[in-house]
Amino acid sequence: MQIIEINTHLLYHELEQPFQSSFSTFKARFHCLVEIICDNGIVGWGECLGSADINAAVVKSMSSLNIGHNPLNIEPIWQSVYNQYRDQGQRGPIHTALSGIDIALWDIAGKYFDAPIYQLMGGAYRMEIPAYATGGFRQEGCDHQQSCIEEMVARVEEGFKAVKIKIGFGVKNDIETIKALRQALGGDIEIMIDANHGYDTIDAIKIGCAVEQFNIEWFEEPVIPEALDAYQMIRARQPLPIAAGETWHGRYAIQTALEKNSVDILQPDVCGVGGLSEARKIITLCEVNHVRLVPHVWGTAVALAAGLHFHAIIPPMPICHNEYSPKLEFDRTYNPFRQSIVTKPIEHKNGVVPVPNGPGLGIEINKSMLKEFLPK
Ligand code: CA
Repeated sequence: MQIIEINTHLLYHELEQPFQSSFSTFKARFHCLVEIICDNGIVGWGECLGSADINAAVVKSMSSLNIGHNPLNIEPIWQSVYNQYRDQGQRGPIHTALSGIDIALWDIAGKYFDAPIYQLMGGAYRMEIPAYATGGFRQEGCDHQQSCIEEMVARVEEGFKAVKIKIGFGVKNDIETIKALRQALGGDIEIMIDANHGYDTIDAIKIGCAVEQFNIEWFEEPVIPEALDAYQMIRARQPLPIAAGETWHGRYAIQTALEKNSVDILQPDVCGVGGLSEARKIITLCEVNHVRLVPHVWGTAVALAAGLHFHAIIPPMPICHNEYSPKLEFDRTYNPFRQSIVTKPIEHKNGVVPVPNGPGLGIEINKSMLKEFLPK
């Protein structure tokens, strides 16, 4: 079996209602899929986290290194491609592009051996993943507190037992929003807060101390991801568990963050950290550093499927009668192609999502839908 073609597919949809995290405004949904075609007709799919057009350019640049190779040599391909590019990027687009390629290679391997990826990677600890609803962005031009609470009440009515909202819109505003959200949802729903590195150390510590009383599950990306010493300081000076990791790509960046005791919860994204191959290595780093691993997920059904296979193979740490299961991040913001590009949508039932059980990623791409969302 040989790789004969590598294509990227850009998916684009302009939003009628743009939404905001602490620092960015999402005016469109824009994602990059990777398609790898083999000489025997097997096709694998992957997805890259982050800027779709940059990822597509880097995947294209990497393609010539892979054509003609046996796609089952996933690890040698990963290592040789990374080695060619490491001087230009030990994190960022080199890793996000390589992630899409790696996931597509695992999809091919699964289809070739007629087995789900989680099986090829050593087997699943769980086949149903409890999910949390991600949302609560600030709708451009709207009152954040009101729209965030309405949205999260709806998610809980849908069956989610845990929700994550965006903060980073001012210390006073954020504290009031979190207080009102806890009142609206009652005591049993888990609440996570994500500042998307919109604060400095002083304000992050202020917020963490102020909202502890509202029983917050974790405080995500309080400050910029480069500031590892600040993460350590925030962990020491406020009471909430600190989570981060979606921008720490590759084993070296993550090892540095773990050595610095930056987080209580590490959040690598399969589509950014270097694909499923690298994600599996990150499991070991978390084990030896004794850090909880709860993956980040953001993208289409391809990213969701890859994330679900990753969730399946994360061992409980420790194995015990009352094991902690890492929750799936399930983005509930508007994205018309998230599910329509697959023949069978990945959905939750009462906040629980099954791991796809077919060969490879266990999904089938609806190719005619890809054309519907071509960038203009
Ligand atoms: Ca985040």
